[in-house]
Order: sequence, then structure tokens, then C-alpha cells
Amino acid sequence: MATVNRSKLNEHLMAEQQQFIDDHPQSKALYEKAKISLLDGVPMPWMTEWPSPFPLFIKEASGAHFMDVDGHEYIDFCLGDTGAMTGHAPELSVKEIQDAITKGFTFMCPTENSLWVGEELARRFGLPYWQLAMTATDANRFCIRLARHVTGRPKILVFNYCYHGTVDEAHIILVDGKATPRTNNIGAPVNPKVTTKVVEFNDIDALENALTPGDVACVLAEPAMTNIGIVHPGPGYHDALREITRKTGTILIIDETHTICCGTGGYTKVHNLKPDILTIGKPIASGFPAAAYGLSSEMVDLIHAHVPQKDSSASDETGIGGTLAGNALAIVAIKATLQSVLTEEAYENMIALATRFTEGVAGVIKEFDLPWNITSLGCRTEYWFSKHQAHNGSEAAAAVDDRLDQYMHLAAMNRRILMTPFHNMALMSPKTTEQDVDDHTKVFRDSVMSIIS
Ligand code: PMP
Repeated sequence: MATVNRSKLNEHLMAEQQQFIDDHPQSKALYEKAKISLLDGVPMPWMTEWPSPFPLFIKEASGAHFMDVDGHEYIDFCLGDTGAMTGHAPELSVKEIQDAITKGFTFMCPTENSLWVGEELARRFGLPYWQLAMTATDANRFCIRLARHVTGRPKILVFNYCYHGTVDEAHIILVDGKATPRTNNIGAPVNPKVTTKVVEFNDIDALENALTPGDVACVLAEPAMTNIGIVHPGPGYHDALREITRKTGTILIIDETHTICCGTGGYTKVHNLKPDILTIGKPIASGFPAAAYGLSSEMVDLIHAHVPQKDSSASDETGIGGTLAGNALAIVAIKATLQSVLTEEAYENMIALATRFTEGVAGVIKEFDLPWNITSLGCRTEYWFSKHQAHNGSEAAAAVDDRLDQYMHLAAMNRRILMTPFHNMALMSPKTTEQDVDDHTKVFRDSVMSIIS
């Protein structure tokens, strides 16, 4: 079995960092200048968290490729961490947005296009009623509030090492079996230990124990975990999750923000899940800011029974909604994306490419007998530094190797391939090609060869 030689790894990581600096004078200059007006030189804090010594500044993008300000062209497997899973600036979305943009952006009134969007989301995901939000984070927050309100229960339940956006309640993990706020969780309004129960994914007994007291309003779950590598549900897990949530009167919220990579109706449609609420964001408007949540008929009955209607307290006091949510332009962008970009045919190609990517990397892992694995989920695929696939967040987290991760990421970046930050995940878009995938396989193999002994 090949092992990673740590001194070679350190040496190569330093060399890759130097190469990045040498290759990107314009990005570096912009970063230095940006520090004068932007906190830490970027418009949003995560943008500093790449393994490169400073962030790559992007000039423009089209399809599965982008160009940086130094003129280098990249194959993009990050795709805006799923926001641009449609490919960048898909022609048909651009055309529809361009046509609509001269007719007004936002009104605080509905437009006729919203009917099409509601009907199409219902058709795709199987939930009959829909609402719009600006981001998946917002959609999750609103749905948690709804669940708390209609059940009258104080707590929520999430899975260990989940991520659902900047949702206060979800920044919590298990440490020595105890729910503990995540280390970098800053300024929490309430300690999430008060609001949240955490259990391991795929542990049916732990789930049942946590829900049996009847104090949990909702389970917020990705149908397969995607933010600590890909963790698939075991056989029968979703049946058990649905049965236990029903039995205990707990609302089941399925977050499809990333698992929309599985098909036009996400993991929910492929596996015939029956959530009470479904949330979705990121690529549904080709990366234009928009999100949505779907509600079952039972959920809508509960909402109508419990939530004040317009003649009682002012609706903008409910804590749900937003001035720009459901704006006319976002609705146009969703319509164009669903109508012309995220189609059945597109998914067929994207999933075939993810299979090719997975097989390429698996071939290298096998060739060098590395104790790593790769697994895919629809058009998403990710390698992880453990011999076997993880069954839960703890197992996946135990195999995290930050330095190795940084090296693999940066070596790819220096060879003009961008993987998703914080881990080595790849997404296929409708514009990704077999050549793009094969280029990655070659770079992956070369990177591995440099650091093993
Ligand atoms: N849900 C999941 C599963 C996510 O991974 C994320 C973001 N990575 C979100 C929700 C939040 O999305 P956004 O940051 O666009 O609000």
C-alpha cells in the first residue's frame, strides 16, 4: 500500500504555494488593494479560505470554464459550490434575464411567472405548495420557524457535521457524544445546545431516543450528507427517518440545496421521499440569488390553523419573508433555469461525467493502492482520505487531513483545475466535457505520484 510521505508533501505544498504567487501577480495586486476597503480583502469571509496564499480574482466565466485576472483559463469543478451547477451564465438563462431586466426587478407584488415556478417546483419535488426566499439559509431558517410555531416545540434536530447555511441552530457537533457548539461559531444569539439535538447520521436508535420525548419541532436533514464529504444513507434509513418523525409528530425538513445534484427533483424524487417541507437554493436560478421551500398539504393546513393571517398582526412581524424574496427577476431566472438548463437530458450527461470522474480517480487509487476512497452522488463526486466510505459525520471528520487536502487542491489549481473549497469535491455542469474530466484524472495522478513513497 502506498503512503503519503509527509516531508515530500510539505516540500511540494510549499513549492505549489510559491508557484501560485509567481503565476498570479494581478490577483495578488487586487488582493492587496482590496484590503484597504474590504474586511480582509474580500467581500465575504469564506473567500479567504482557499489553500492558495491569496484568493484568485475572477475575470469572467462561461459554461464549465472561467478566466482569472492573470489570464489563466480553468476547468471549474467547484461551480460556485453548487451555485453555478448549471454552468456559468447559461445562454438561455442569460437571454431570459436580459429580456426581463428592462421590465423592472422587484415589486412586492407577484408576477404571472410565479405560477409557472410554483407548478414546476410542485411537479419536480412532489410538494404541492411553494414559497420563495433569497438564499437556502433563509429558506431553512423560515422553515425551522414554521415548524416550531405549528408544533409548539422548542428544539430542532440535526445530524453531526451537517451544514445548512448560516442557521444559528445548526452550528453544533458531537464532541465525546455531547452536543457542543462548533469552535468557530461566533456571536450565537443563544447557545445552540439549548435549541438543538445532534445525532449521528444513519443511527436509527439515536434518532428515536432523541425524538421520543416529543420536544423536537423538526429534523433538518440533507438526504445524503454533502458537507463532510459525501455520506450516503444506509439501506432503510430514510424509511426509518420518516416513520420515527411521523410517530413522534416531528416535522421532516429535507434540505436539497446540494442534493439537487441527483436529478431534476433532487434526491427526494429519485428515492421517493415524502418530507413535510423541502428546501432548495443555490443553482435553481443559475446562481442568481434565489431559493424556495415546498410544503405538504398537511403542513399548509397546520400553517393556516396556527399562523396569523393578514388581518391580525402585521405579516412582516412573523420573522418569515424578505423584501427581495420572490422578486420578479429571480422568478424569471428560476423559470429559465428549470425550463431550459436543469433538464432531464442535462442531468443524464452530468451524471455520466461524474461516473467517469469517479472511475478515473478510483483507478488511480487502485493503481497506487492508496487508503483513500471516492464516491459519487448524482453529478457530484468527492474523494476522501480513508480506505472505506464513512457512514456518519464522525467517521468522515476523523479522516480529514488538512495539509493533504490543501496540497491536492492547490496542485490542481496550479494546473488550472478548480475543486470545491474546504474539501476536494467536484461537480459536473451541463457544459462540462469528458476532456475536462480526463484532464483532472491526469492531474490527480501526477499530484499523487509526487507525494507518495
Ligand atoms: N443547505 C446546504 C446543504 C448547504 O450546503 C448550504 C451551503 N453550502 C446551504 C443550505 C446554504 O446555502 P446559502 O449559503 O446559499 O444560503
